[in-house]
Amino acid sequence: MSDCLFCKIAAGEIPADIVYEDDQMVVFMDIAPKAEVHLLAIPRSHIESLDDLEESHDTLMAYMMRKLSELAKDAGLDTGFRTIINTGPGGGQVVFHLHIHLLGGSNLPGFQ
Ligand code: AMP
Ligand code: ZN
Repeated sequence: MSDCLFCKIAAGEIPADIVYEDDQMVVFMDIAPKAEVHLLAIPRSHIESLDDLEESHDTLMAYMMRKLSELAKDAGLDTGFRTIINTGPGGGQVVFHLHIHLLGGSNLPGFQ
């Protein structure tokens, strides 16, 4: 999608601190980190949100979920990490290209 911020990051048209990328996904540092480590994992293809997933995305989503553990370890999060997916305005989603927040580190806030 031409006017999508995260599509532009995936295409290299807008700079980001990319920590991992392959043909299916791109992972970069959140510009306003909410924890010591705050990464965003996105599919290369434009999918707006979890509400827009189709059966053809099943393999991609499983792949991304499996990669998160690897990415967390690479970021030094040996004891664990938190993942968040905001969906739709009611879920707090602001950027409408599906993304998985990966958070962790010493200042990870509580979840109450
Ligand atoms: P959400 O509320 O789930 O849509 O989260 C969007 C996230 O994207 C927020 O945590 C923002 O800080 C982050 N964000 C917005 N613009 C950028 C950008 N240009 N580079 C990296 N992260 C961004
Ligand atoms: Zn997009």
